[in-house]
Amino acid sequence: MSTTSAPATPAAGGRIRVGKYELGRTLGEGSFAKVKFATNVQTHQVVAIKIIDRQRVLRHKMVEQIKREISTMKMIKHPNVLNLFEVMGSKSKIYIVLEYVDGGELFDKITKFGKLKEDEARKYFHQLINAVDYCHSRGVFHRDLKPENLLLDSQGVLKVSDFGLSAISKQVREDGLLHTACGTPNYVAPEVLKDKGYQGTAADVWSCGVILFVLMSGYLPFDEPNLVSLYRRINRADFSFPSWFSSGSKKLITRILDPNPVTRMSISQILENDWFKKGYKPPRFEEEEDVHLQDVDAVFGDSEELLVTERKEKPESMNAFEFISRSKSFNLENLFQKQMDIQGISKRETCFTSKSPANEIMNKIEETAKPLGFNIDKKNYKMKLKGDKSGRKGHLSVSTEVFEVAPSLHMVELKKINGDTLEYHKFYNTIASGLKDIVWTTEQNSEENRPECE
Ligand code: AMP
Repeated sequence: MSTTSAPATPAAGGRIRVGKYELGRTLGEGSFAKVKFATNVQTHQVVAIKIIDRQRVLRHKMVEQIKREISTMKMIKHPNVLNLFEVMGSKSKIYIVLEYVDGGELFDKITKFGKLKEDEARKYFHQLINAVDYCHSRGVFHRDLKPENLLLDSQGVLKVSDFGLSAISKQVREDGLLHTACGTPNYVAPEVLKDKGYQGTAADVWSCGVILFVLMSGYLPFDEPNLVSLYRRINRADFSFPSWFSSGSKKLITRILDPNPVTRMSISQILENDWFKKGYKPPRFEEEEDVHLQDVDAVFGDSEELLVTERKEKPESMNAFEFISRSKSFNLENLFQKQMDIQGISKRETCFTSKSPANEIMNKIEETAKPLGFNIDKKNYKMKLKGDKSGRKGHLSVSTEVFEVAPSLHMVELKKINGDTLEYHKFYNTIASGLKDIVWTTEQNSEENRPECE
């Protein structure tokens, strides 16, 4: 596991939990997934979670391949490959839990500072080739190497992402998403563009060559305003070097950007190349031995028991002003009440406070409303109650929400969303007596027993 500890980065927005992870801000959106920052609430380890639409991935016949690639990636622990910790599945999504890196994308550096010096470019190229070589030796190909997949950690170490997810991205591509989401295929080998079956190894080497060219020049070797002329140039490997490239680097790149995958330079030949060998240190790392794959089996298996759910960790919290303005036990509220009366608005909204835990409140409302003929639809700390009989103005429909005011104090709001207001009041009176055990009353508000919202 990564040693990254608790972040300075707060988990912004709502507190959504998936398994033991609390989701935070969105880190990015790739061709087939959204990536979110997350924290393991047990260990405080920070991670990145790639969220993929389950339907899109599993409705095709590639489940076995995807499962195999994810399992392999779980076993790969290479310093230049983004670590895949575990996978989780819900009914609608697949969550891939990854090492979080905070150095941004390698290409942000080029955007900010322009081309890299030859030695610096070579240093990143070493790391890229190490990652690619290692994954290939395990039978995993990338097939979509491009700038967004080259991330840096806080020490400036290159981490290649999305290795082993090529089956998933291919899936999405076949659904027609690539062209809209991914932009132009400037990094893709000619044989991949022809789409007549190709070797993952040689195709990845081509993309590494394009990446090296961009690192040293600050621009793309193949770039055209329209796809037809771009394809034509890629097919012919029609590019030229800027004046500052050394002859060693030019020789290497020319051999890598060979349109014929059979004669293209292989990784073992790259490792023997003089320009490449300068300053090269083979990576040292230990392979993880006892990696379990139960999580992968659970995601791709038939049992629903092992699936996770996305849920709100706690009810929405309410600040003091909101609380005071909604509660009748405070004088301020009477002021609002008066205004409402003047305008002749009848009450459609009521609320009470409770010291019971949020889950208990939800259960109690459900227990009380069901015998009154209401169908319940629950989500997080919100509930919709729909009367099964039609009244004077259609079916009475009520929404409720539990808010956290303080750790042991909740405010429960009930709102009529459809039906007759008088029927709603009758309903509220009945439900209030059913809920009297959980309603919190102070001396001030005890004679009313239930503070009201409007
Ligand atoms: P991807 O789908 O892998 O192309 O990810 C989209 C974007 O999300 C990347 O370009 C990064 O900016 C960000 N991102 C992806 N994975 C991570 C990660 N493990 N740590 C930090 N940021 C990430």
